[in-house]
Amino acid sequence: MSHNDVLVIGGGIVGLATAWSLLEQTPTLKIVLLEKESQVAQHQTGHNSGVLHSGIYYKPGTLRATNCRTGRQAMVDFCRAEEIPHDVCGKVIVATCESEIPQLLKIYERGMANGVTCHLIDIPHLKQLEPEVHGVQAIHVPDAGIVDYKQVAQRLAEKIRRAGGEVVTGAEVVAVETRPSEVITRTRDGREWTSRVLVTCGGLQADRVGQMAGCTPTAQIVPFRGEYFQLRPAAETLCRNLIYPVPDPEFPFLGVHFTRMIHGGVECGPNAVLAFRREGYHKLDFSLGDLTETLRYSGFRKLAWKHWRSGATEMWRSWSKGAFVAALQKLVPAIRREDLEPAPAGVRAQALNPNGSLVDDFLILEGPRVVSIQNAPSPAATASLRIGQLIGARVTPKLG
Ligand SMILES: Cc1cc2nc3c(=O)[nH]c(=O)nc-3n(C[C@H](O)[C@H](O)[C@H](O)COP(=O)(O)OP(=O)(O)OC[C@H]3O[C@@H](n4cnc5c(N)ncnc54)[C@H](O)[C@@H]3O)c2cc1C
Repeated sequence: MSHNDVLVIGGGIVGLATAWSLLEQTPTLKIVLLEKESQVAQHQTGHNSGVLHSGIYYKPGTLRATNCRTGRQAMVDFCRAEEIPHDVCGKVIVATCESEIPQLLKIYERGMANGVTCHLIDIPHLKQLEPEVHGVQAIHVPDAGIVDYKQVAQRLAEKIRRAGGEVVTGAEVVAVETRPSEVITRTRDGREWTSRVLVTCGGLQADRVGQMAGCTPTAQIVPFRGEYFQLRPAAETLCRNLIYPVPDPEFPFLGVHFTRMIHGGVECGPNAVLAFRREGYHKLDFSLGDLTETLRYSGFRKLAWKHWRSGATEMWRSWSKGAFVAALQKLVPAIRREDLEPAPAGVRAQALNPNGSLVDDFLILEGPRVVSIQNAPSPAATASLRIGQLIGARVTPKLG
């Protein structure tokens, strides 16, 4: 039996940032982080677009809006201090036809309200930044950038270990018992860990892990796979940095876009299709339990009923490379089918309310000795260092 002050479940960037923030604030704390995989950052943190988001899209006043902007700066400072490759290269959001301009202007206003540096630019300026892009108007966001979040997560794990904390991999939590004075956490291999406070950052398993810890989830995780292609080297000149479309306001994701990667290459995507398994990275990955749970959930059925048309379009685009290319050609007309080759996918953990609406913000539940992250969608990687501080501030009073 290992006795600890704080136990964190989940070795994604949010769990690691939380453990690190607590240790940075109180170096004497005994902290252990349990991760079920053999390495940290094997799920969302290691399968994302690697974008340092600016905070332009989010509703003013939300946790996403405030923590994205400050979290981006904290992440850039961290990468500088730790000499982790990153590039604040800026991005453009492009209206490709007149009808998209009102929505583009709304995003610009949101950016201004959120204190994000952003500029409306005309076509000659857009062409200077991204010569191959077709558009009628655009926003330039100079503070957006790129980084490798897996590398950031690995560095956080190293720092936690060096500061005396434990990061234990291959430790899947299967049961939690909360007592008035402590929490007992059990892993699949039969080990037991006690702590004064438990923090859960389970990503795609967030609701299940939270429930295990005694928090009644108010929403259920529904997994949405994001599939990518990458540009063949000869076509990489089609994109200099980051090129985004105007997102569909009815749809919670940003639309397929072009992302230069920090270690080279350009990715195109991701789309957003229902994954038939929570950790299902391939089209045919399937779990009867996961899929049944999704289909039986009233929130999912309501969402599917309301958005069946966009859902069907996304499914079609998942199977048809031609449809994927057509979406990209709206932004970069010169792109051809043969310029693209498949790239690894990611799966987003999106919490869905019972009424079918998506939980639009970071969601944190609390019990007397538990803090549980129930929803940490994009831009949670960008904002992770700030989210870690936010969770830390909720843990500290529970330590007494
Ligand atoms: C396709 C895609 C693109 C994205 N693009 C961006 C982007 O460009 N910029 C950005 O800021 N954000 C982006 N995001 C979002 C970002 O990746 C996530 O918000 C962030 O990684 C969430 O981190 P996390 O630690 O909460 O989850 P995860 O990284 O999923 O980590 C959760 C961890 O908990 C572990 N775990 C679960 N259950 C247990 C258990 N029972 N016992 C022990 N361990 C357990 C898992 O194994 C996992 O390692 C993207 C996400 C996806 C999927």
